[in-house]
Amino acid sequence: MTPSTDLNESLFERAKRVIPGGVNSPVRAFRAVGGTPRFVKRAQGAYFWDANDRRYIDYIGSWGPMILGHGHPAVVQSVQKAITEGFSFGAPTEREIELAEEILKHVPSMEMVRLVSSGTEAGMSALRLARGATGRSKFIKFEGCYHGHADALLVKAGSGLATFGNPTSAGVPAEVVQHTLVLEYNNVPQLEEAFALHGKELACVMIEPIAGNMNFVRASVPFMQRCRELCTQYGALLVFDEVMTGFRVALGSAQSVYAQAIPGFKPDVTVLGKVIGGGMPLAAFGGPRAIMEQLAPLGPVYQAGTLSGNPVATACGLTTLREISQPGFFEALSRKTRSLVDGLKSAAAAEGVAFTADCQGGMFGFFLLSELPQNYATVMKTDNARFNTLFHGLLDRGVYIAPALYEAGFVSAAHSEEDIAQTVAAAHEVFKLLAK
Ligand SMILES: *Cc1c(COP(=O)(O)O)cnc(C)c1O
Repeated sequence: MTPSTDLNESLFERAKRVIPGGVNSPVRAFRAVGGTPRFVKRAQGAYFWDANDRRYIDYIGSWGPMILGHGHPAVVQSVQKAITEGFSFGAPTEREIELAEEILKHVPSMEMVRLVSSGTEAGMSALRLARGATGRSKFIKFEGCYHGHADALLVKAGSGLATFGNPTSAGVPAEVVQHTLVLEYNNVPQLEEAFALHGKELACVMIEPIAGNMNFVRASVPFMQRCRELCTQYGALLVFDEVMTGFRVALGSAQSVYAQAIPGFKPDVTVLGKVIGGGMPLAAFGGPRAIMEQLAPLGPVYQAGTLSGNPVATACGLTTLREISQPGFFEALSRKTRSLVDGLKSAAAAEGVAFTADCQGGMFGFFLLSELPQNYATVMKTDNARFNTLFHGLLDRGVYIAPALYEAGFVSAAHSEEDIAQTVAAAHEVFKLLAK
């Protein structure tokens, strides 16, 4: 298509004049893979259509929230009804209680939950709560885990263990991240050493249990078990950032997956977002009553939001959660995701392309590597040029995956076996190119 007839191209040019980089969130700009972002006109089920009215099978689903697919009739209906009743009141509504009850029903580690509007807000509030509840400042996070763009959380590893992290963004003063200790994911000895040095000063360990922001990397069961034991031993809180995995990898979220392997396992604080809003701006954080009662107006930890518990967003989230808690929902979704992952693996194997993949529930990741990576440094060993060939090869064939190799993918209930088969066939053609 020539630039003059590519409407994505002309929209991108226009956008770049008024919006930095032409996008309102950086990964959308295609900087990692090159080319022109697809401007979405509309979406339905497993598909979206770009500015040229070209259809794509969507494996992003708004980065996870669209677990039912786009435009699910029950969700659309509940949102339409909510809109006619009012957009926002700045006063409590019954629907907020219903959504809180629905969340707590499925994630029993939480006895109380506070609703907010974005994952970033939920993550930074959970950190403040952990610090307020323990009276401690330091905390551990892991390289490759993303917890939103709050200052104290935008940190990469320093020069060595026991040194605190460096800001990953300009505008974050070094003083603000001096309490953030960044460790390698799945590295038990390093975790033990950090606790030996700083354990009594740690407010929390914050972790993505199945990391979805360095593609798809699971915390190993022994690593997670050690996180739990050390937090308990030293009086630090274990904070699960389940913004991506919550209600996405299982109805009980990733913590239910670890509880199957580690009897009695639960985190202290859970951070949620994405799926619980069903595509509307909604997120949450919660935990045991004694911790949550530290929050304003009951306790000394301040947290607030003009649009928190928004009536339209809560309607969207509530209907989404009710739909996905129907019997058999996650079994069917998991089967479909598994068939995608298995199909991609056999297509790559048929062409002799080094490839591996993993999935849980409706979330997956694949790598142009021969073994599943255990940490960020290994994920980053992926050959960029080969990933870009795969990305653009799929895009040209009407399959939309994340435009960066460090992102996970998502299957929705609306994806059909036919969509999966088409995707695998498209990938097989691209693997032939990669094999040359
Ligand atoms: C998406 C995400 C966030 C940030 O959520 P926003 O709504 O984008 O602010 C935080 N943590 C994790 C694990 C996420 O995947």
